[in-house]
Amino acid sequence: MLNRIRIVLIGTSHPGNIGGTARAMHNMGLADLVLVAPRCEPLTADTVSRASGADALVHRARTVATLEEAVADCTLVVGASARSRTLPWPMITPRALGERLPDELAAPASRVALVFGREDSGLTNAELQRCHAHVHIPTNPEFSSLNLAAAVQVLAYECRLAWLARPASGEATAADEDEDGQPLASHEELEHYFAHLERTLVAIGFHDPATPRQLMARLRRFTLRARPERMELNILRGILSATERQAERGDDG
Ligand code: SAH
Repeated sequence: MLNRIRIVLIGTSHPGNIGGTARAMHNMGLADLVLVAPRCEPLTADTVSRASGADALVHRARTVATLEEAVADCTLVVGASARSRTLPWPMITPRALGERLPDELAAPASRVALVFGREDSGLTNAELQRCHAHVHIPTNPEFSSLNLAAAVQVLAYECRLAWLARPASGEATAADEDEDGQPLASHEELEHYFAHLERTLVAIGFHDPATPRQLMARLRRFTLRARPERMELNILRGILSATERQAERGDDG
């Protein structure tokens, strides 16, 4: 279970925090670290010093340019956020997140990503809207932002507690499949669907990107909340393709 939990750090600017993250992960038995567009040299003397022997995780870490690349194969993406945002999103506590993991990870193809933001500005709204849910570590509301590696530590600890308390194998129902054994859509499949949906809504004149009114954000929230199966997304994409063809015919006439 722990080997299918990925820690994703976006735009990190202090190598020490990457080292501290590697240490926190290794302490808790996590190993999959992905760096998205780091704003510092990831492997420095500070990294090695803060990693205290866990720097192998940084050597093995994948570095990618975008959040999409980092989580393309993930079936559940959770963003860690120190603040609440304008458009409320499904929230989960660190403990509830941990408790969901044995089910979420019961099927071998499932992957969970925990996404962490920049030291100075956290995650952008666009990044947060690519997550199924947000997790907030309860803190003093007047001083709510933890150090990045400390935030990773808290969530990694919840992952470990959940793993220690996991049901005996076979008891968990696979949450990346429904009762019919249908696989859930991956992040990449969801992003293709959202791009197709936006294109179609523009083509039929329903959506004007110049005055977005949070339409796409609301449709994202609605769709992600439903945890669609791959096959359900294929049906929706078929409807979109038919709508596009119809719109083109209408234009010609
Ligand atoms: N100044 C930033 C916070 C950056 S802290 C802001 O105002 O958003 C760096 C990252 O650590 C955050 O993006 C978040 O992923 C994580 N983090 C810090 N405090 C957290 C908290 N209380 N709950 C959840 N994640 C937190």
